Amino acid sequence: MKAVAIFEHGGVDKLQLTELPKPEAGPDDVIIHVKAVALNRLDLWVREGLPGLKLQMPFTLGSDVAGVVDVVGAAVTTVKPGQRVTINPGWWDTTCEFCVRGDHPLCVNFKIFGEHLPGGYAEFLRVPSRNVLPMPDDFDFVETCAAPLAFLTAWRALITRGRLQAGEDVVILGAGSGVSTAAMQIAKYAGARVFATSHSDEKLARARDLGADVLINYAKTEWEKEIFRITNKRGADVVVDAVGDATWLKSLRALRKGGRLVTYGATTGPNPAEEIRLIFWKQLEIIGTTMANQGEFLDVMRLIFARKLKPVVDVVLPLEHAAQAHERLAKNEQFGKIVLTV
Ligand SMILES: [Zn+2]
Repeated sequence: MKAVAIFEHGGVDKLQLTELPKPEAGPDDVIIHVKAVALNRLDLWVREGLPGLKLQMPFTLGSDVAGVVDVVGAAVTTVKPGQRVTINPGWWDTTCEFCVRGDHPLCVNFKIFGEHLPGGYAEFLRVPSRNVLPMPDDFDFVETCAAPLAFLTAWRALITRGRLQAGEDVVILGAGSGVSTAAMQIAKYAGARVFATSHSDEKLARARDLGADVLINYAKTEWEKEIFRITNKRGADVVVDAVGDATWLKSLRALRKGGRLVTYGATTGPNPAEEIRLIFWKQLEIIGTTMANQGEFLDVMRLIFARKLKPVVDVVLPLEHAAQAHERLAKNEQFGKIVLTV
């Protein structure tokens, strides 16, 4: 089958168009004929290499796919060949103590397609049948593949872990990322007042279209002071910060007493200066989150398929242009998801 794979870690030139063996279905597996695959920042990290991540090369990236069921294993009864589907990009073993509780992203063997397991930069992808979700007829592959990872991450971050309530003030840092475009809509859906930040007025205008109430250009103003001014020196109830080094201390300052900082990433670096006195004196909560359990995935996908939440697609490129897509994401030029068609 045709695929874009890496044979070693490194720059965008390591993304090679190649032929790989088509995966075969075990009893509980589904082989998906991939039609579209969305990028995540994770793709850049995996291409470059992550500490402790040892991959069998050649390796295919890509966590978010939509396509058509090609083959199903003998034990699969939930989907049939020819059905249009997307996937939960997380893999869990179903047996550890956390899986038994339904805390799938805490699974001791948790994996992600495109990070630890082969992903969707390929004509065919093998996943367990439990990962497969049929998609409605009126959704196309491009908009569908743009949803899962960003929306399930944002849903768990805000609703489950962040405990966001109607009427609260929530700050979403970096308006252009896939997760941010999901988080702004989810926060609005939950009834919160949404503060969005960006260095770009153009991205802020698009954030407003997604429901952001307060737009702050951090290139022109100190955003954490702006939040204090607008909230009458109270501060925000929740800040969602996946930026890391560049924003962490400001996020602590922007929170109200007893506020919650939710983090799912560290794009600018993982070791920020931390003002511990701020944490105890303001009695802040620092909440980590990653991915989501199957229930959260189904909850958020149901709202997408009901068109209450909308996947935001930045550009669509053919799979062969994966390197160009990676460069666009690395430069933060995107607003929403970059999608490759296979
Ligand atoms: Zn488990």
